Amino acid sequence: MLLSTMQDEPLSLATVLRYGSTFHSEAEVSTWTGSELRRMSYGEVGRQAARLANALEALGVGEGDRVATFMWNNNEHLVAYAAVPAMGAVLHTLNIRLFPEQLIFVANHAEDKVVIVDGTLIPLLGKYLPSLKTVRHVIVANGDASALEAPAGVEVHDYTQLLDEQEDTFTWPDIDERAAAAACYTSGTTGDPKGVMYSHRSMWLHSAQVTATNGMALSDADHTLAIVPMFHAMSWGLPHAALMCGASLIMPDRFLQPEPIAKILATEKPTFAAAVPTVWIGLLAHLDANPQDISHLRNVVVGGSAVPPSLMHAFKDRYNVDILHAWGMTETSPLGSVAWAPAGTTGEEEWSYRYSQGRFPVGVQARLVDDGGSVVANDGEALGELQVRGPWITGSYYSPDGGEVDPDKFDDGWLRTGDVGKITPKGYLTLVDRSKDVIKSGGEWISSVDLENIVMSHPAVAEAAVIGVPDEKWDERPLVSVVLRPDATADAEELRDFLTDKIAKWQLPERWTFIDEVPKTSVGKFDKKVLRAKYGEGSLDVKTLG
Ligand code: ADP
Repeated sequence: MLLSTMQDEPLSLATVLRYGSTFHSEAEVSTWTGSELRRMSYGEVGRQAARLANALEALGVGEGDRVATFMWNNNEHLVAYAAVPAMGAVLHTLNIRLFPEQLIFVANHAEDKVVIVDGTLIPLLGKYLPSLKTVRHVIVANGDASALEAPAGVEVHDYTQLLDEQEDTFTWPDIDERAAAAACYTSGTTGDPKGVMYSHRSMWLHSAQVTATNGMALSDADHTLAIVPMFHAMSWGLPHAALMCGASLIMPDRFLQPEPIAKILATEKPTFAAAVPTVWIGLLAHLDANPQDISHLRNVVVGGSAVPPSLMHAFKDRYNVDILHAWGMTETSPLGSVAWAPAGTTGEEEWSYRYSQGRFPVGVQARLVDDGGSVVANDGEALGELQVRGPWITGSYYSPDGGEVDPDKFDDGWLRTGDVGKITPKGYLTLVDRSKDVIKSGGEWISSVDLENIVMSHPAVAEAAVIGVPDEKWDERPLVSVVLRPDATADAEELRDFLTDKIAKWQLPERWTFIDEVPKTSVGKFDKKVLRAKYGEGSLDVKTLG
């Protein structure tokens, strides 16, 4: 090998912090308080990050130690994002909405040493704290530290007091780019949550992809409303990408309902926003009842579950806002594919690309594998399980003792996503379903996602979730759970008639139920596990059409 002449500079998040807090020192992160914003410049983020790093060091946090956050999206959470990896420790973003036993499992599994908690979350953390075996320090931000009763062996600190005592400079160490920078656990829809350890290198490259024009195209022109929680796949990479490119961040803190989000939009006029589909479905209903101009949003990234085309059209036609559909997973940092239509496409052709899960960027290699383990062609038709690999895709799950966790999720160096879909020769992905959600009716597949999208395009429908339920004749048939818009009416017959010219006759669902709300997971996706359980225990009022 002829070695290059290039410098071997590690890709470290300390560089991102240094860069963002100096060359973009006037960009801002700000947090909604319910009526206004608390603002902090990136210059101040740099100084606060140094104070936090000094404080953590004084508490005994060293290289590789895990520092957890139990926080909303806010200024102090960004400071932790900046400081913890840059000092060589590992940021573990705890999902505040996990079930208690899962939360306790992940904090113990990651061996978190310190937890930074928001004051409003003290009552919740307080319940878990006696079960968190490795936590020695809790730092209370945005609240009253004395409200937290800590078990023996755990010291409680007030964030402001602790940081005020510190120097506002820190000598950020040289870091091996392969070292862990942050930890995120999957939400554990089946079995225990699994830990993904992002490296400095993976996060650096992923952040650059978020700013790339075929990524999320985030730039210093953006005021970014980061609704996606900082505990959901690192807020999709937005915080570090924002420091990297000088985009400003607007954080909603605990104000995540449609009404306060609409108020933030009206007051701050962000150019960019990101959240799962259910957030936009809720916001749309609110806006339709209380119209306001939101055309300042130049780009709205929506992913985490399939975006119904009817939702994209509603935002475009009624509010002149473009939704950018994206696919990803905790395991993929999460940016996997983004649905920018190819340059030059217009009209229906352009829409067909935008409905898809999008095109893979150069950092994400993808292939489809059939049930027999053979790779199938990327011809836009053949279906298979999506497998991916690349520099920001995990190669295993974290195991404190080095043992293998769920090795079946990996196939010869590729991550098995559990998603079933097709890929065009030009690298556009269309997902049919999660393999565990697809409905197997008489040996044929019915996509729950396709059915949901069509039912949700009916004007009376706010939300629709489809699960497969046992059927004597066909093994499994779809059950549609429908949430009607307020004041709208439609019955099962009408909805079924609406589907007749849109799907094959054998796919038409017989079973329908009307519910007040689709249950949601800890990150706001339709929780089909809960619907299945409700169906199993007979608590859904199901109407079966002849
Ligand atoms: P969880 O598995 O707990 O939901 P993740 O957020 O990591 O946690 O979820 C990743 C999964 O979400 C993907 O494997 C896929 O099934 C689904 N998903 C993400 N984005 C999309 C999308 N745009 N369309 C359809 N499914 C999606």
